[in-house]
Amino acid sequence: FSEKIEKNVSQIITKLMGLGVFATANQEIDFDVAATIALEFGIEIEKEEVKEENEFGFDQTPDKLEDLKERPPVITVMGHVDHGKTSLLDAIRDTHVTEREAGGITQHIGASEVELNGKRIVFLDTPGHAAFTSMRARGASITDIAILVVAADDGVMPQTIEAISHAKAANIPIIVALNKIDRPNANPDKVKQELSENGVLIEEWGGDVICAPVSALKGEGIDNLLEMILLVAEILELKANPNKLAFGTVIEAKLDKSRGPVATILIQNGTLKVGDSIAAGAAYGRIRAMINSLGKNIKIAGPATAVEILGLSDVPEAGDSFNATKEDKVARQVVEKRRTKMREENLNATAKVSLEDLFKHIQDGNVKELNIIVKADVQGSVEAVKQSFLKLNNDEVKVKVLHGGVGTITESDIMLASASNAIIIGFNVRPSSTVTNLAKAENVDLRTYRIIYEAIADVEAAMKGMLDPEY
Ligand code: GDP
Repeated sequence: FSEKIEKNVSQIITKLMGLGVFATANQEIDFDVAATIALEFGIEIEKEEVKEENEFGFDQTPDKLEDLKERPPVITVMGHVDHGKTSLLDAIRDTHVTEREAGGITQHIGASEVELNGKRIVFLDTPGHAAFTSMRARGASITDIAILVVAADDGVMPQTIEAISHAKAANIPIIVALNKIDRPNANPDKVKQELSENGVLIEEWGGDVICAPVSALKGEGIDNLLEMILLVAEILELKANPNKLAFGTVIEAKLDKSRGPVATILIQNGTLKVGDSIAAGAAYGRIRAMINSLGKNIKIAGPATAVEILGLSDVPEAGDSFNATKEDKVARQVVEKRRTKMREENLNATAKVSLEDLFKHIQDGNVKELNIIVKADVQGSVEAVKQSFLKLNNDEVKVKVLHGGVGTITESDIMLASASNAIIIGFNVRPSSTVTNLAKAENVDLRTYRIIYEAIADVEAAMKGMLDPEY
C-alpha cells in the first residue's frame, strides 16, 4: 500500500493511529481504512480485482477472508473388517439423524448428515480406506477427518495398519474409535500400545490423537465421539464461501430406470440451486431436482452438503469433480473440453514416477521424495527394508516408506500408490493378475524381489540414474 500510494510506512502508521487503528508495517488493513488514509493524502484508490481462471474458465480466485464461513467436517470411517465400521455408522445415524421422513426410513444416497449441539457432521457412507483412496487416486480429496475403528477385543490388525497408512498419506487427522468396549475380553490398553507401535500416538501416550471408546452395538460413547469430531474440526478451521457457484465431487452415480442418470455429489464450496447448470465429469445438464440425505426434496444446498441430483445427460463417475455454471452452454463446453483432455491424458499417461525415470524427475526437480510401499511375506523383511531405504536419503531426494505390511500386494496398495505417486516393492509375494493389470492401468511401478539386497541396489541405482533398463 505504501509503495502504491508512494507514501512512507511511518506516515501511514501515523495516519492510522489518528483513525484509532494501531497497525504494524506488515499488517493487513481493510480496504475502507486504506481508502480513508489515501484520501487524507488526497489520493483516490480503487479496489484491484484479481481474477484467476482455470483451464475451463472457472473462476479460481481465492475466497476472501470475509466471505468464508465455517463449514461442517466430512468424515470417512476406516478400519479392519468386522471391527464395526458399518455398525458404527448405523449407530451414529440411529441416534443422531434428527429429522426423518414419514415411515422412519433414511435415504441412502452415499452420505449421511448428523447434528450435535446444532452443528452438522457429514459422513461418507462407504466405509474403508479402499474407497477413500480410490477417490484420492482420481484427484478428489473430500475427507477432512478419518475415524479409525479398532475393536478393543481384537486390536490392531493388517487392515488397521493399512488404514493408518492411507490416512497419513492423505495427511488427514485420525480419531480412534475404540469399539466393542462392551465385550468382556476388551483390552483397551493393549490396543493403545499396538497403535503406538504403528505410529498412532494417542493423548495418553503423549501424542495428539484422540481415542474415543464406543460400543456401536449398544450405542454407547457415540455422543462423545461426535463431540471429539467437532473438536478436531474446530482446530482444522474448515471454511467455505457459500456465496458463489458450487463446485465439488461426485460421490456415487447410477442410471435409474425411471429417473435417468442420478448422482450424489458433495458440495465442497459455493451453493447449488435447482435450475443451475452443471458440468460433472463427462456429464452435463440442468439440475431438475435435489434430494438430501433425509430423502427430502430441497431447492438449495450450501457447502459440505451431500445431495442426490437429477437432470444430468450421462452418468458421471465417482471421484469426478463438478462445477455449476451460469449457463447451459458453458456446462456443455466444459464437458467437451474435459472429454478431449481425458482422451489426451489416456494417450500419454506417463505422469507417475517409476524407478526407470526417477533420476530424470529428480534432476528436473519434480521429485523430492520417493514414496515406496513395501509388502513382504514376513514382518522381519518389512522392517529390514524400511530401515535400509531410510539410509538411502540424500540431499536431492528422501525415501519415504508410505506403507509397509505383511501379505500380498492388493488393489488397495495399487490405489494408494496411484494416489500418492509411489512405487511398490514386494518380497516373496506374488500379486494376482487382477492386481498386476490394475497396476498397469494406473501406471504404477510394481516390482517384486526375492532378495532384499537387490531391491535396495535397484532403488539406489535409480536415485543415481544408473539403473539398468529392464528388457
Ligand atoms: P465392519 O466389517 O467393520 O463394517 O463391521 P460390522 O459393523 O459389520 O461388525 C462386525 C460384527 O461385529 C457384527 O457382528 C457386529 O454386530 C459386531 N459389532 C459391531 N460393533 C460392536 C460392538 O460395539 N460390540 C459388540 N459386542 N459387537 C459389535
